[in-house]
Amino acid sequence: MDQLSPQIAQRLAEAAGPGGSTTEQSEIAPHLVEWRGRWQGRTPLMLKPTTTGQVSRILAICNETLTPLVPQGGNTGLVGGQIPTQGEVLLSLERMNRIRAVSAVDNTLLAEAGVILAEAQKAASEAGRLFPLSLGAEGSCTLGGNLSTNAGGVSVLRTGMIRDSVLGLEVVLADGRVLDLMRGLRKDNTGYDLKQLFIGAEGTLGIITAAQFKLFPKPSSFATALAAISGIDVAVDLLNRLQDATGGLVTAFELIPRIGLDLVVKHIPGTANPIPAHKGWSVLVEISNPGALDMTETLERTLGQAMEDGLVPDAVLAKNERERQNLWRLRETLPEAQKKDGPYIANDVAVVLSRLPELLANTQAAVQKILPGARPFTFGHIGDGNLHLAILPPVGKDDTLLPVREKIECAIQEEVGKLGGSISAEHGLGLAKNETITRYKDAVEIDLMRTLKRTLDPKNILNPGKLLPAAIAGGN
Ligand code: FAD
Repeated sequence: MDQLSPQIAQRLAEAAGPGGSTTEQSEIAPHLVEWRGRWQGRTPLMLKPTTTGQVSRILAICNETLTPLVPQGGNTGLVGGQIPTQGEVLLSLERMNRIRAVSAVDNTLLAEAGVILAEAQKAASEAGRLFPLSLGAEGSCTLGGNLSTNAGGVSVLRTGMIRDSVLGLEVVLADGRVLDLMRGLRKDNTGYDLKQLFIGAEGTLGIITAAQFKLFPKPSSFATALAAISGIDVAVDLLNRLQDATGGLVTAFELIPRIGLDLVVKHIPGTANPIPAHKGWSVLVEISNPGALDMTETLERTLGQAMEDGLVPDAVLAKNERERQNLWRLRETLPEAQKKDGPYIANDVAVVLSRLPELLANTQAAVQKILPGARPFTFGHIGDGNLHLAILPPVGKDDTLLPVREKIECAIQEEVGKLGGSISAEHGLGLAKNETITRYKDAVEIDLMRTLKRTLDPKNILNPGKLLPAAIAGGN
């Protein structure tokens, strides 16, 4: 859709309320390019409502006039889902940013979709509780975007994906009706769990305007270490040893490649590699304990035993909060360092833990066949079986990588498919994998997804062409 009639634009602007819309391209511009610069959008109008009632009126008008729209939160999504590439109206939820309630008694937080993740974490912490999501983009991403991509991040081992922590949801449907699922109950077996439909739906089934989340006990102590490992095949063994030793208190277990540490040190000021002699893989391990017991000694003892057994050639433990933050900085700045280094191809995949070594061996062999000398930059949430399999060009040959992007992505997805894995563990499908997903899901599953889309959004106004191939989503 490239033409928006002045009458419809006027009605939408009125529905969004005072200060709730803009056609000013300089204000809109930052919302049209995504983090990696892979997709560039265009839109004649950006709406910025502040209430659920306004979102409801906007959707009713869009549905009546067949006006497609793209919802956007913090614009940190990595598969292009939030970008209006066909000139759709852009619906920014960023002004719906109120935390409606925090209860340390019910252990819940109720907030609007545009609340920045870090703000939700802060509000929970001030109430003596832990918000169950933490990820590299937490200073910019929003709860609505987190829910719509079913975000994971670095604490999935303990609290699960974000969908596991949702007690209630408020959603505006394509026709403008408000679906209020904000009961906040931990037990409710009264039929289909409709809220789960909208989580991970990337804005294709409804607009999330608010949600109620479970809160968790706030850790009172952390034991954190960067441990060199002798090979990828020992990572899962080490994780299981740590889980056994701590009674399942491992909160983070993140894989870091040597090239990752090198690029972080090169591009991120103030960082240093604390285990420079080790040339192979490392893992960032964190054990957090809500109780009184400090787990540092347990971590030290378990890593010591792993060293004796030849699993861990070297390790450093954080002795204080500053050292802990420094170790985390090495992990959290990996995407930024990778981006600063030049072109790369990103892949976000998952397999069951026992198949991780095969995944790495098979995908790297496939990539080398396509582009000999290409450098793997593999990192991520290895404790969840989820790796970001990034590929960098051969040294000094930056221009050789992007021409073979599709071939490489396809080859990696094929290998993941053979191992029964997922071609998108965290980031979703968006525009990056919406066409290929049909190859990796059962035809019955795709058919049900299409039926859901057509039932909830029969006119295909909600983020059209994202998540499913445009041809099968149907509509106008
Ligand atoms: P956006 O990018 O604005 O939108 C994402 C999708 O949700 C789009 O399809 C959009 O249309 C839809 N959407 C947004 N708001 C709504 C709404 N209210 N209702 C309906 N649909 C909506 N992801 C992980 O899971 N784990 C990680 O560890 C992780 N690390 C990251 C690190 C970095 C540096 C970056 C840049 C991204 C990372 N991500 C990670 C990607 C992740 O998807 C996003 O950071 C975040 O969850 C998206 O939130 P957002 O508000 O920016 O959403």
